[in-house]
Amino acid sequence: MVDRATFPRDKACSEYMSPEGARHLSALGVLEAVEEQGGRQILGTTVHAPRGSSLTGLFARAGHAAFRASGLSVSRRLLDGALVEAAQRAGATILEGVTAIGVVRDGAAVGGLVVRDRDGAVRELRAPITVGADGLRSVVAREIGSRRPARLRRYAFVAHLSGVAGLGQTAELHVSARGYIGINPLGGGLANVALVVPHTEVEPSKGRAEPFFFERLGRFSGIGERLRSAIIEREVMVTGPFDAWSRRVTAPGALLLGDAADFFDPFTGEGICAAFRGAELAEPLIRAALERPGTGALAEYARRRRAAFLGKWVIERAIGYAMLAPGFFDRSVARLERRGLAHTLIGVTGDFVPPRAVLNPVFLSQVVF
Ligand SMILES: Cc1cc2nc3c(=O)[nH]c(=O)nc-3n(C[C@H](O)[C@H](O)[C@H](O)COP(=O)(O)OP(=O)(O)OC[C@H]3O[C@@H](n4cnc5c(N)ncnc54)[C@H](O)[C@@H]3O)c2cc1C
Repeated sequence: MVDRATFPRDKACSEYMSPEGARHLSALGVLEAVEEQGGRQILGTTVHAPRGSSLTGLFARAGHAAFRASGLSVSRRLLDGALVEAAQRAGATILEGVTAIGVVRDGAAVGGLVVRDRDGAVRELRAPITVGADGLRSVVAREIGSRRPARLRRYAFVAHLSGVAGLGQTAELHVSARGYIGINPLGGGLANVALVVPHTEVEPSKGRAEPFFFERLGRFSGIGERLRSAIIEREVMVTGPFDAWSRRVTAPGALLLGDAADFFDPFTGEGICAAFRGAELAEPLIRAALERPGTGALAEYARRRRAAFLGKWVIERAIGYAMLAPGFFDRSVARLERRGLAHTLIGVTGDFVPPRAVLNPVFLSQVVF
């Protein structure tokens, strides 16, 4: 494994996972360690719509058996560090501080990576299969994925704060006509606070991310009050624009995982689970491709991804566009709450309730009418 970062490191993320995330961590043997070191269990999500309505979706009431009744909030410093250690224990060699700058071409196939070492030296790392799990600005995706920007191009400003008043046992999302914020209790008195705005609004933040962050948070109803005694414990990290997807997720000798393949809007908190799920789908195909080179075993990956993610792509896009229509969003949130449907939706975005529980005429008509 090659990563340009040196672990442990921070990452701009809302640091929220559904029970399905906990399942993946358990399967990888890191759940217990992560929880012991500071992960905090959360019970679901509360959404506050622009004109005052709200819903709370609880994992335990989603109507399908989840891995457990709680999700997990955990800093990426802790989580990613634990994953790196688990990979090492499993036998992986990890080259930290090494940056992929391109792929090695063997004719039409990918034959490994071109990397730049810490000392600036450039070399080739050859491999029978190259997995591009290098995130939103993936070098591997740029070379093989036919990368496309999506239409909702957003930026995020993310900090860890202490002293945020009124934290509960659910993650919070507060939506306005011009973006949204996520507040996620991390335990130990800390909260992850993320502000997400359209790319058209970021100009005034240049060189003054922190004042911009607090000024924009203060525009959300009731938030300024709750942040009155808040203290920044980790600087504001800025990331964006963060909407892009790859038309192709495989090439001969290579495959894309996680954000390198496609990006889920942070609103639904699905990216980490989707990355793990993609790895679950890819693993048997990579094994087959290694055992039977030249048989095109990786090509099946795109179809399996489509089967696994199509419903979630539709729901995530629909929520993203609904947020652009504040009146509609507000009424939909009110109906979901009043009709007891919020739990199902949180279960679907949390990956343990099938999308068809939401993508059916009965459910949709109850949201719209
Ligand atoms: C503001 C924000 C909030 C989010 N909140 C949530 C949330 O609450 N819950 C959730 O599930 N998802 C959330 N997401 C999405 C989530 O962060 C991603 O979907 C998830 O991290 C994807 O994992 P990944 O392994 O594909 O990429 P990453 O986690 O980005 O990992 C990519 C790795 O590749 C390395 N890398 C990148 N380029 C190179 C290179 N050229 N050479 C070598 N190494 C390289 C990086 O150092 C990094 O370690 C959020 C995203 C954003 C932007």
